[in-house]
Amino acid sequence: MHVPVVVLGGGPGGYAAAFLAADLGMQVALVERDERLGGTCLLRGCIPSKALLHVGRVLSESREMEEWGIRFDKPSIDVAALRARKDKVIGALTGGLSQLARRRNVTMVSGAARFVNSTTLEVSPAGGGDRQRITFDHCILASGSRPARIPAFDIGSPRVMDSTGALELADVPESLLVVGGGYIGLEMGTVYAELGSKVSVVELTDTLLPGADRDLVKPLQKRLEGLFESIMLRTKVVKLEEAKNAVRVTFEAADGQTTREFSRVLVAVGRRPNSDNLGLETTKVVVNAKGFVEVDDQQRTADPHILAIGDVCGEPMLAHRASHQGKVAVEVLHGEAAVFAPRAIPAVVFTDPEIAWAGLTENEATAAGRSVEVSKYPWAASGRAHALGRTDGLTKMLVDPETDTVLGVGIVGPGAGELIAEGVLAIEMGCSARDLMESIHPHPTLGETMAFSAENYFGVATEIYRPKADGGGR
Ligand code: FAD
Ligand code: NAD
Repeated sequence: MHVPVVVLGGGPGGYAAAFLAADLGMQVALVERDERLGGTCLLRGCIPSKALLHVGRVLSESREMEEWGIRFDKPSIDVAALRARKDKVIGALTGGLSQLARRRNVTMVSGAARFVNSTTLEVSPAGGGDRQRITFDHCILASGSRPARIPAFDIGSPRVMDSTGALELADVPESLLVVGGGYIGLEMGTVYAELGSKVSVVELTDTLLPGADRDLVKPLQKRLEGLFESIMLRTKVVKLEEAKNAVRVTFEAADGQTTREFSRVLVAVGRRPNSDNLGLETTKVVVNAKGFVEVDDQQRTADPHILAIGDVCGEPMLAHRASHQGKVAVEVLHGEAAVFAPRAIPAVVFTDPEIAWAGLTENEATAAGRSVEVSKYPWAASGRAHALGRTDGLTKMLVDPETDTVLGVGIVGPGAGELIAEGVLAIEMGCSARDLMESIHPHPTLGETMAFSAENYFGVATEIYRPKADGGGR
């Protein structure tokens, strides 16, 4: 078979690219080794984790109601029904993708693909059978990523899981150790803790979510200290051993070694790009030391026939970045002057509270020695946050003091992941803090805290008194 465009990988990068290519009138084939479309995000990532986090949030909200005089009985949890409901969400969405592919006349090819040269893929069908060759003018490589493994933790025990295993929700273990205090560790730790496991987190560095600003992490850490059994920072797992109905774990910290047993262990220490076993050595594609495929700002690799998008070509490994890059790659093939040059790629950690940021962070500004003004609006001043009983949030804005341009936004609090979209638009449009302050936001909402944070930059936030000596006023 020969096609002008073939997309390798049916995740959020690959299917977005294939669908746009079809919409623009290109003849396109999509190769996927999994039986279903959706990739990591839909089948074993974003969507199942958010479905389970929704359940966790309902459980915690029902507990919070006690403060308001409303008491619910202790919930009874039917794990099989919960698992089935989560799988139903995945089924509906992946079924929808297949229909969309069919309607768009995208040629679906099922099997694992390898490059044979710069213009040929060989596809091995999942169930065996004859290999198929596809020649192409251009390939968009969207093979994604997989969980990073630590060889010493591969003890062959079903009690040691990665994120895929944790999302399968085989049971609710009595105790769970999460290795890695990043996105997955904290999201999945939250799910299991809400369902009733005693969760401990061990993190190598001195903070949870090392990439995020400290003031955003602080309210989350405080809440997790109540929800989790323990949070061990600056601590390393040096050994895992199978024990009777448990995994024995040896920790090493500044004060020496300790040993504890857990019913299950979740290893969530990052992800690695799927750039190996693809035959890329038969092409001109360059893979860097971390395994990421190198691309320019048009998603072109060093091979003129191959573009790459999503997790396989660098960080941040996020679904919306993958889809956006997929669209840029297709527009480039369509002859448009498209580039991937975002001012803001939003990041959201869907814990409770959620943490979200976009554009410049305070960590980055400090590291670059860049002078910015940081305006913070604590949710303790927000009527809506009080009405929700969640005054632990914060909305902050990084502003260029010369031009008043909004360079970055950071939010912690329930719903931060929804609220950050306004920050993304503000940064992309080059808005000034005044634009945000003078746009009328609905009251009472958490969205108002964006405008109030901008007001606070000018020293005139209604609910915050700043004495004149403090630089108050415009
Ligand atoms: P993938 O989604 O990994 O898709 C790659 C596809 O290529 C796969 O379907 C794979 O089977 C296929 N493939 C690979 N090699 C071959 C081959 N040789 N032949 C044929 N097919 C092949 N991101 C967010 O933005 N928000 C979230 O809330 C979020 N939550 C997450 C939660 C978890 C637990 C995990 C693990 C990840 C999460 N992510 C989240 C990250 C997100 O899933 C990825 O960034 C995203 O899926 C990357 O998309 P992609 O298209 O580049 O690759
Ligand atoms: P991560 O990079 O977010 O966090 C890994 C953590 O593990 C880091 O804090 C790191 O310091 C720590 N660590 C590394 N080695 C360790 C060790 N030996 N012992 C203890 N701690 C160790 O990685 P992740 O949580 O595995 O997630 C992978 C990627 O998937 C994320 O970076 C993100 O791109 C994506 N993801 C996104 C979302 C979201 O958008 N909400 C959710 C889940 C995953």
